[in-house]
Amino acid sequence: METVNTATTVWTRDTAQVEKRDLWTAMKRGFRCRCPRCGEGKLFRAFLKTADHCSVCGLDFTPHRADDLPAYLVIVVVGHIVVPAVLWIETNYSPAVWLQLAIYLPLTFIMSLALLQPVKGAVVGAQWALRMHGFDENAPGDIPPV
Ligand SMILES: [Zn+2]
Repeated sequence: METVNTATTVWTRDTAQVEKRDLWTAMKRGFRCRCPRCGEGKLFRAFLKTADHCSVCGLDFTPHRADDLPAYLVIVVVGHIVVPAVLWIETNYSPAVWLQLAIYLPLTFIMSLALLQPVKGAVVGAQWALRMHGFDENAPGDIPPV
């Protein structure tokens, strides 16, 4: 025979006042490499290393789990810019291969490096706004991060 867990939630004034988090605002702030909550403090302490916490509002950045998602997103975005441009130029002008490689390879490399940090910031901002991983202070604390 199973026992039914009859856990109850006690609704108080504190549980009803959950911090509102706007997804797009948080992602825009993260894209600018700023704290998704206050938009002032720096999100990164190195190129792709997030700071431990916001220097202005104290938000803890350590629960984020961006992992490889920013790299995948950058590949998708840069690929959708470079590949159509390559095909269009090849179809209409057909320049020498060495010239194409001399332009497209550095262009792809520079665009990827330029987008990587802002995209990672946007991913961290989205995770914070959606209360993913450890960004939900009301979640049970006994679940370790993966
Ligand atoms: Zn902040």
